[in-house]
Amino acid sequence: MLSRRHILAGLCSCAFCQPGQAESSAKGGCYLTADEFKTLTDGSKESFDYAFSGFDKRRRSGDPDFDKALAITLLKLTDTFQILPDFMFYQEKGSSMNAVATGSIERRDRPDGAVAYGLNLLGLQKQGELGGIPGVIAVCAHEFGHVVQMKRGTRAKLVTASGQVYRNELHADYLAGYFVGLKKLENTTFPAAEVALAVYSLGDSSFESRGHHGTREQRGEAVRQGFLRSHRDHASFDEAFESGFKYAQSIKRAG
Ligand SMILES: [Zn+2]
Repeated sequence: MLSRRHILAGLCSCAFCQPGQAESSAKGGCYLTADEFKTLTDGSKESFDYAFSGFDKRRRSGDPDFDKALAITLLKLTDTFQILPDFMFYQEKGSSMNAVATGSIERRDRPDGAVAYGLNLLGLQKQGELGGIPGVIAVCAHEFGHVVQMKRGTRAKLVTASGQVYRNELHADYLAGYFVGLKKLENTTFPAAEVALAVYSLGDSSFESRGHHGTREQRGEAVRQGFLRSHRDHASFDEAFESGFKYAQSIKRAG
């Protein structure tokens, strides 16, 4: 549940790069160009080394138990989504909270773009808000979903004629739901409903914004549909990516 403090401080500060965020792409959404991504993360943490090829504290969040759990999650995401992006933490501007992705950056050993996770957002989730630590998993899956969209060339196909990105965002929510369903299959106590509620809470009604992500109902339903593809249907990732694309393509702007 969102705390009163969050509601007061964060009306326009949400995970997954909401409209009006300082970090938003000029084109809207949480998918950035290489230049936008570099500007945003300049001077922040080094890459998070989730392949366990070494243990360098500078590359970690500062919490060893969390770092280990995050590395395991990112490795599972890499395996499921079949991508290997760079990953890093960064400090958002002011009190904003965010996570962003790009497909345009290539590191030699991380060929599939990059994801940056905001420390303000992480801090709030470590306090149990916005889905808590399970919510971190959903945000990572959403951002990895954007990288796959870019890699597979579907991103442009879901941008509306007026340049809005909400269908891409709902597709990424669907893929996050798919991953949450896998987690639930692995561990029946995984709080999938709370995670879906956290994404639901991030819906917006900025219908005219290019960065509109979808309403609460649309975002919550996209997560639920993706969840059912893995948890109920045992669909492969490729099947879920395709059905999620068609699902997002069919969504009309609510307002
Ligand atoms: Zn997004």
